[in-house]
Amino acid sequence: MSNVRSICVYCGSSNRVPDPLKNSARRFGQMLGERGLQLVYGGGRVGLMGITADAALAAGSEVVGIIPAHIQELEVEHTGLTELHVVDSMHTRKRMMFERSDAFVVLPGGLGTLDETFEIITWKQLGLHDKPIVLVDEDGYWQPLLGLIDHMIGQGFARSEHLGLFRVVDGIESVFDALEMAPEPVIEPQAKWM
Ligand code: AMP
Repeated sequence: MSNVRSICVYCGSSNRVPDPLKNSARRFGQMLGERGLQLVYGGGRVGLMGITADAALAAGSEVVGIIPAHIQELEVEHTGLTELHVVDSMHTRKRMMFERSDAFVVLPGGLGTLDETFEIITWKQLGLHDKPIVLVDEDGYWQPLLGLIDHMIGQGFARSEHLGLFRVVDGIESVFDALEMAPEPVIEPQAKWM
């Protein structure tokens, strides 16, 4: 998928995480800037989210943050972004993040990241969109999750074809190759939404 211009990043909001994961989030933000790509994310200053946004801004990216009013304080909205949208709910945030992005990249994160990731994967499973989704298994962070998905497949709760809904790469350096190889989306999401 060569015409990716805007990338949505889902990642953790915690600051209490291993330094190597912080470093790779920082490097990923830089890589977005070096490639002239726009970052779309949750709009906070905290955790890997803030680190990625700061690095992308410093490297010249446009950064679009979308944050619900009720968690503005909790996630400390980033005031230096190209665009900051304060929205009425999590649902509006997720929908806007979806609409503003050509592709989704998942860095290490917690429960919120899982929610966002599985929503975008299952929307794809339902045929609501076919934008590329790349899970970055930095330092093997997502191995337990991938093991769970294998378990679901083994038990018949998911199908092995579902693994084709997203790509797994073992580090940020491989994200752009994965996006390059992804097919162009053909589903027009607006037409099928809701
Ligand atoms: P976490 O991975 O838990 O650190 O959260 C990462 C991001 O996901 C934060 O911006 C959270 O606000 C967001 N988040 C948490 N729960 C949800 C949810 N149910 N829906 C959408 N985003 C969420």
